[in-house]
Amino acid sequence: MKANTKMCNRCDQLLPLGNFYNQSNTKDGKGNYCKKCKSEYQKEQIKMLKATDPAMYLLNKSCYAAFERGKITYNRPGYENVRCSYDNAMSFLKALWDDVFFRNEWIAQTDVYVANNYNYKYRPTLDRIDPELGYEKDNIRMLPQHINVSRDKAV
Ligand SMILES: [Zn+2]
Repeated sequence: MKANTKMCNRCDQLLPLGNFYNQSNTKDGKGNYCKKCKSEYQKEQIKMLKATDPAMYLLNKSCYAAFERGKITYNRPGYENVRCSYDNAMSFLKALWDDVFFRNEWIAQTDVYVANNYNYKYRPTLDRIDPELGYEKDNIRMLPQHINVSRDKAV
């Protein structure tokens, strides 16, 4: 194999190393799928999650959106002071999912949403109990979109 190239485990093409993302837990420090395949793979995973576990799929989307909002660079009016106390969207998602009360409410509301033909007003969303505070532990509850205090901005 030529130096500075790597075989993609998905499309079986020999490609320059620049076509692979860095990944700390592999021998050569590069992912096993090329960037194009990695992106396709992630899209497939999300599609599968949507079909097999809609509650987790929706919470995943909400957590990523909320985490984006919590960034210091997010300047949408009304969100200047909203922060997310978690280090990344994944740990935010995990904290919520591991909370049995929260998770059960989220799943129950997802069932309502699905039963109502994905009518957006029934979608489960993350509501900040105290709107002055950010997305942080003990300040988040599940509310269906139509009663979330921030309504159009609900995630
Ligand atoms: Zn590939």
